[in-house]
Amino acid sequence: MNSTSASPVLIIGGGVAGISAALDMAGCGHAVHLVEKGRILGGQVAKLDKLYPTDHCAFCPLWTDIKKVREHPLITVHTSTEVRELKRVDGLLHAVMIRKPPVIDESLCVFCGKCAGECPEAAIQTLGDHVYPPSYWVREDVCNRCERCVKICPTGAIDFQRTEETSELMVDDVIWASGFTEVDLTPLPEFGLGKHPDIMTAMQFEEWTAEAGVNKGAIINKSNSSVPRNIAFIQCAGARDQRLLSYCSAVCCMHALKQAQWALRRNQEIQCVVFYTDLRTVGRDYYEYSLRDISGSRVRLIRGRPSLIYPLPGREGIAVKFENTMTQKREIWKFDMVVLNGNIGSSLRRTDQGEHCSPALSGDGFVNPASDDISRFACGFSAEPADVAESVIQASSAAVKAILARRNK
Ligand SMILES: Cc1cc2nc3c(=O)[nH]c(=O)nc-3n(C[C@H](O)[C@H](O)[C@H](O)COP(=O)(O)OP(=O)(O)OC[C@H]3O[C@@H](n4cnc5c(N)ncnc54)[C@H](O)[C@@H]3O)c2cc1C
Repeated sequence: MNSTSASPVLIIGGGVAGISAALDMAGCGHAVHLVEKGRILGGQVAKLDKLYPTDHCAFCPLWTDIKKVREHPLITVHTSTEVRELKRVDGLLHAVMIRKPPVIDESLCVFCGKCAGECPEAAIQTLGDHVYPPSYWVREDVCNRCERCVKICPTGAIDFQRTEETSELMVDDVIWASGFTEVDLTPLPEFGLGKHPDIMTAMQFEEWTAEAGVNKGAIINKSNSSVPRNIAFIQCAGARDQRLLSYCSAVCCMHALKQAQWALRRNQEIQCVVFYTDLRTVGRDYYEYSLRDISGSRVRLIRGRPSLIYPLPGREGIAVKFENTMTQKREIWKFDMVVLNGNIGSSLRRTDQGEHCSPALSGDGFVNPASDDISRFACGFSAEPADVAESVIQASSAAVKAILARRNK
């Protein structure tokens, strides 16, 4: 079959895995629809600061690939669009997609900044020109709908009246790259999430401390904007735990070491303690990264999974109760900030038969993946917990498998 005459492939998710799979498919002459429910491409990596194991900026390599995706003639990008339903019709997959158009249409925005300058609530924000294409967006929780921005916009890009649109797409195959989701940790009350502003998940910490984020790289407490004297990083919070995620989230040991080290680089006065079950830093660069942490900096590693984390009265901070399993000593230490690592789950779950199925998709037309093999091309974190390097490799593998399957049709 001539590859370009086949119907397109749908890629669900515009994170690093979806982007890589799209570039590989299109590079081999296959038309692709890349669908991302967020405003921008990049997935979770677009929210990260630095990337282990190189410590390079997370956004720089993404920017180049996003630009290639946006400009490729065989790739159609749908942002702010969620795939809600999939069903088989006459041998093809029929996808139902819901688009929630953003108030500022990025295709019309010329990034002049007039709207942001005019907004009395500072509700119009941008991630800067390191996002491709650079654009502004409206924080709807802050905006008071005065619509001064609508009047000042020179290209008519701003419209508060846009409503949800439903569209449908017929495709040959689907590549699942829907990534991971943060799993709610509040059912496990011993971690104390929600009980103190400075008890946060790793993803929240990453956003709170990112150089391109709200605090421009400063490490400060949420509760009082002061510099924390110490930070506890708690590993396996929700992972390897039959009550929430029965498996290891694979990336957390490495990103806790990264976060601790970057907190120290930014402020030498902060003490960082990582409470781990066993350090999973597999591979040469990764193991060397962990050794650098242990020997070269003030990151302290304690083997022991804390049994209780709770706020202390007044401004006393947060208590972490644990047993150090090396010394068998039970102790309670005080911290100004606690970061919980582990509550990230693949968006595709496995059925009892070992197949993937997606809790995100619902509706009458939902194809049972166990009988329809609909998720055979799953890649990135949606298939297995995986870091960026692994997600990209899996994405290429999924693209090759999809290409071969189309050739054999
Ligand atoms: C705190 C933290 C720090 C990390 N630090 C590092 C690091 O330093 N180095 C490293 O290598 N890795 C790191 N990782 C891991 C890294 O984030 C993942 O490897 C990477 O995000 C996986 O990419 P992905 O494309 O598979 O998934 P994602 O990044 O999750 O992207 C999936 C995309 O799919 C979209 N989507 C989901 N469902 C739908 C749907 N139905 N319709 C449309 N779109 C949908 C989502 O909106 C999302 O944008 C870190 C992870 C965490 C939690």
